[in-house]
Amino acid sequence: MVYLKTDEEIELMRESNLLVGKTLAELARAVKPGVSTLELDKIAETYIRDHKGVPGFLNYQGFPNTLCTSVNEQVVHGIPNKKPLQEGDIVSVDCGVLLNGFFGDSAYTFEVGVVKPEIKALLEATKAALYKGIEMAVEGNRIGDIGYAVQEYCETRGYSVVREMVGHGLGRSLHEAPEIPNYGRRGTGSKLRKGMVICIEPMINLGKRQILMEDDQWTIRTVDKSVSAHFEHAVAVGKNQSDILSSFKFVEEVLTLQS
Ligand code: MG
Ligand code: MG
Repeated sequence: MVYLKTDEEIELMRESNLLVGKTLAELARAVKPGVSTLELDKIAETYIRDHKGVPGFLNYQGFPNTLCTSVNEQVVHGIPNKKPLQEGDIVSVDCGVLLNGFFGDSAYTFEVGVVKPEIKALLEATKAALYKGIEMAVEGNRIGDIGYAVQEYCETRGYSVVREMVGHGLGRSLHEAPEIPNYGRRGTGSKLRKGMVICIEPMINLGKRQILMEDDQWTIRTVDKSVSAHFEHAVAVGKNQSDILSSFKFVEEVLTLQS
């Protein structure tokens, strides 16, 4: 079932998603060598609750934490733990909140200290691919247009696209129809309609595209243990242009000050 949102509902969803963006900025301040992903999780949970939200992932299908934190070869759904992050790592932080009855959902991959140039390039390409996909989130286009844009951008640069994990509709539920793959053919799939709110979330690997689930039954990692990047925005489909409801502005203000 695809639930179209009214303009009023989209404004409520913008609030939920801006809280996610501001939470990610708190984490941007904290990510450095020596910090653990469990410490990041506590920062996020406190910040969300202090701003009248509820962590969106906590207890979702039994997930034990506020954040999904996926380090290096981990793709998504990593469980926060006490292991300190190390110089040169990357960590994908995926954050969800429930506020005013609607979910926010957005993810950013952070560099821990100084990372290798080829990893930095992977992060830049994944984020750029996300925005290529977002440009296609306009009424009348099809879901395959989004996937094609992401896939074409990444594969022409030598990266591979995870296929088993996809984006999704977002609203009063964390995962609504339709699924939004990061690969596809132009002009195929369901038509996008004004009022749809979708999460576009490319998961892009430096090596091969194949993934597996770790023994914890949550964490997804690359089979070849190559590093993987993940960026996600929640986007409202518009008549003539897409409307990004989440924001990296707060994160990038913090990162700019640090550099
Ligand atoms: Mg997410
Ligand atoms: Mg998502």
